[in-house]
Amino acid sequence: MINGLDKAKITDVKSLLVHCCCAHCAAYTVDYWRGQGYEVGALWYNPNIHPYMEHQQRLEAMQEYARGANLPLSVVDGYDIIDYFRRVAGNEAQRCRHCFELRLGKTAEVAAEQGFNAFTTTLLISPHQKHDLIREVGHRVSEASGVAFLYADLRKRYSDSRHITKGLGIYRQQYCGCVYSEWERYADVKIE
Ligand code: SF4
Repeated sequence: MINGLDKAKITDVKSLLVHCCCAHCAAYTVDYWRGQGYEVGALWYNPNIHPYMEHQQRLEAMQEYARGANLPLSVVDGYDIIDYFRRVAGNEAQRCRHCFELRLGKTAEVAAEQGFNAFTTTLLISPHQKHDLIREVGHRVSEASGVAFLYADLRKRYSDSRHITKGLGIYRQQYCGCVYSEWERYADVKIE
């Protein structure tokens, strides 16, 4: 079940569902797409974030930011960590591809269900992510789902986005999300 969006309000032809990886990447991204004339809804679906309490902390930060930004936020029920690991186990070097496919696939699915015209993701603002891979996966998911994928390279505005959320005093994560990225962050290793 999806909650947080008022379907009756999603009638504008330029409605956009933004997959949000965290509040700090959402801040500028949402402003940007609103500035382009889109009615923006946000989606939280990040079963790649481990452990569970880290996921909850990032979700709470996102909810606080969304309240302040008057941003309708849908939260997908449950925590699909098993689905994440079934895709990634044995394919760790390709885990980001599977991670993006999982999250963007769900976003396109929800966008279609909720009547949005298009979807995108806040991952596109991060210089720490595999940008070209996100774009490739986004377009492929779009072809499969029939929902348009909106692409913008917002990486130069990454620090602006963090500046927007700086005064909110909300939780800020120290690693990408999965246990592999946490290990890489703190042990200075690289998983190949
Ligand atoms: S490093 Fe980040 S993008 Fe890659 S699989 Fe882990 S959580 Fe997903």
